[in-house]
Amino acid sequence: MKIQENVLLAPYTTFKIGGNARFFAQVSSVAELEEAVAFAKEGSDETRHLPIFVLGGGSNVLISDNGFDGLVIKNEIMGIVEEGERIIAGAGENWDNFVRYTVEEKGLNGLENLSAIPGTVGAAPVQNIGAYGVEAKNTIEWVEVYNLTTRKIEKLSNADCRFGYRDSIFKDERKNNIILRVSFLLSKNGKAMLEYKDLKMFFAGRADVPSLCEVRDAVIKVRAGKFPDLSKIGTAGSFFKNIVIPRTEYQTLLRKFPTAPAFLADPSRKVQGSTSTSSQNSVQEKSNDPAVKVPTAWVLDKVCNFKGVRRGNIGMFENQALVMVNYGGGTAREVRTFAEEIIFCVKQKTGLTIYPEVEFVG
Ligand SMILES: Cc1cc2nc3c(=O)[nH]c(=O)nc-3n(C[C@H](O)[C@H](O)[C@H](O)COP(=O)(O)OP(=O)(O)OC[C@H]3O[C@@H](n4cnc5c(N)ncnc54)[C@H](O)[C@@H]3O)c2cc1C
Repeated sequence: MKIQENVLLAPYTTFKIGGNARFFAQVSSVAELEEAVAFAKEGSDETRHLPIFVLGGGSNVLISDNGFDGLVIKNEIMGIVEEGERIIAGAGENWDNFVRYTVEEKGLNGLENLSAIPGTVGAAPVQNIGAYGVEAKNTIEWVEVYNLTTRKIEKLSNADCRFGYRDSIFKDERKNNIILRVSFLLSKNGKAMLEYKDLKMFFAGRADVPSLCEVRDAVIKVRAGKFPDLSKIGTAGSFFKNIVIPRTEYQTLLRKFPTAPAFLADPSRKVQGSTSTSSQNSVQEKSNDPAVKVPTAWVLDKVCNFKGVRRGNIGMFENQALVMVNYGGGTAREVRTFAEEIIFCVKQKTGLTIYPEVEFVG
């Protein structure tokens, strides 16, 4: 394993933005990972106590124009083990290749709605990836991690991971953990989840139940219309999380915007108090006032009219107002400035606070 110096990170991200990593290591085994960690923790005087950042496919990060002043470890730990309906995958496996394998080669149900999400298996538990009514937490059995503090390997159960809406323990308490492998419990005879509007429309008029492969193909086709082609335009996908608020607050919103859509959020989800002045991580639980999810894309499109709006090299995608894109040459500074403008507009017009889904690094 080679530790490189001053490596440009932009090409390692789907946004195609970001300066240099002071040090950069690609690891494909636990032994290589331990070697890289030792370099950052007790290398020479010059490199001791370096901060570490773990990079997967770089599809949910905005890396600073100044880069990362530490060691970036790109996780390339591969391998897939099949134990009947349990499939264990290495963190460095490409997520969509893994989904294709479970659906097309193994005929297993559970991940088909999560088709075509960029990135790696190891990042899936971090923000509990979700799409079309399904979240990674529905099938994750356990997550194996390397704890950077104890330098030991540990196994966390699904409950230990404290999954929430685009959230898990790996975003705060366990931020010092590097995910090595993830075990998924899938099923041979499970039922396809077709409740989500786009999938219902896709299969409208079908009397029989679509096969798993058909559901996967449908998800890929629907997504192709919503996200730009990553080989041509840079993006990190949906830039903001959806708005999750108590139903009473939604009723207030309806008075001003009678057509505002909402869906009942999972009652176990955290409720972001939009009237709260606290930070993104500060949440409140209102079990007697069920949470609803208001699509942020609707607010950005219909209330703030950001769909297709461009600021320099950056813009909100013309097919999906939630997707920020880099038309080429965009900087992290431009993205942050535009994001602030959007957050301000939403607050002014609706009183609601929106939070980035994309992680700012460096
Ligand atoms: C076009 C597009 C569409 C998208 N659609 C969706 C969607 O439908 N649903 C959805 O949920 N997301 C979506 N995303 C976001 C993104 O694809 C997911 O969050 C994905 O899981 C990120 O994977 P990654 O490997 O690229 O992670 P990275 O961007 O490299 O990292 C993201 C975070 O995970 C951490 N991380 C990565 N690997 C590890 C590891 N092995 N151990 C510990 N921490 C790790 C990083 O440190 C960082 O904090 C989309 C992104 C794009 C560009």
